[in-house]
Amino acid sequence: MARLMLVAFDPSEVALGHGFASALGIPFDVLLLSGADPAEIGAERTLAANLGDVPPADSIEDGVVAQLGGYSHIASVSSMRSKDHLPRWAAHLGAAMVTDVIVVEAENRFRRPIVAGSMIETVEVSGSPIVMTFRPSGFAKFSPNGTAAADSITIPITDRTRRVGASARGGARPDLTAAKVIVSGGRPLKDAETFERVIGGFADSVHGAAGATRAAVDSHIAPNELQVGQTGKIVAPDLYIAAGVSGSTQHMAGIKDSKTIVAVNIDPDAPIFENADLGMVGDLFVVLPELQAKLAGKF
Ligand SMILES: Cc1cc2nc3c(=O)[nH]c(=O)nc-3n(C[C@H](O)[C@H](O)[C@H](O)COP(=O)(O)OP(=O)(O)OC[C@H]3O[C@@H](n4cnc5c(N)ncnc54)[C@H](O)[C@@H]3O)c2cc1C
Repeated sequence: MARLMLVAFDPSEVALGHGFASALGIPFDVLLLSGADPAEIGAERTLAANLGDVPPADSIEDGVVAQLGGYSHIASVSSMRSKDHLPRWAAHLGAAMVTDVIVVEAENRFRRPIVAGSMIETVEVSGSPIVMTFRPSGFAKFSPNGTAAADSITIPITDRTRRVGASARGGARPDLTAAKVIVSGGRPLKDAETFERVIGGFADSVHGAAGATRAAVDSHIAPNELQVGQTGKIVAPDLYIAAGVSGSTQHMAGIKDSKTIVAVNIDPDAPIFENADLGMVGDLFVVLPELQAKLAGKF
């Protein structure tokens, strides 16, 4: 019988999975890998592994896969973590893997973006189980009004790979994938100090995250983890401010689910204006401080 195991890396991903589970329309359970108090979203059973800071994929693969027997579908939110863990589970189970699902057409037929989001492909999977990641922006949002009772389980951790240290970069700014406002900069930001002052300062004033193009990252203007786009992070903020960003298909692939895109570019013919909700033609070093002054304190 078809049954989904929704694997959440932290409690915030439980509620994000509700729309996907509803679209799939089969009974489902939740496996919460870290954190307490999962949202009540109608799962038949919720298992909490309480792993704390989720260990490297290699070290919990066997333990997680042991919990996945009997499920026809295994799914997680598309994220850097799920990109790391889920392919291992699929290989371990000999399962088909479908990533970045945005539409469920049937229990075994899904739509997903390809070629940097410029095309949507429909895939049909034969066989079971199916391991999948899904983009939450493709599914109905859900505001949980309670927390689920969870059964504690133990997932053994092997020492094949051990995390010996981790440090957050970007200070107290929200994570790009969770931020409501993102201020992004491209190649014209010149150097790391200018990027941090102009883009980082603006982001801080609106309690947002700073993002960057790949050109900015490759030129060492911005750190790698700030890259947005096809080969960076996929984001869906309420407001995305792109300054000195040309609007390549690869960059746009990462921001097209943003509710409002504001572009600041000196070139009136820059491709980003084709996709921006609001475009400002001008020098970002002049326009951004004015915009920042107008928006400061409003978020
Ligand atoms: C396989 C592959 C994957 C890729 N993945 C990604 C990805 O994930 N993310 C990504 O971003 N890119 C990615 N790229 C790179 C992408 O093709 C572009 O090269 C890159 O996005 C361009 O970055 P940019 O807009 O900062 O730079 P540019 O293309 O150099 O554009 C700079 C823009 O700034 C404007 N400008 C200049 N001075 C000012 C000023 N003073 N004020 C205002 N505007 C100004 C210019 O008019 C121009 O439009 C990928 C490429 C490939 C081949």
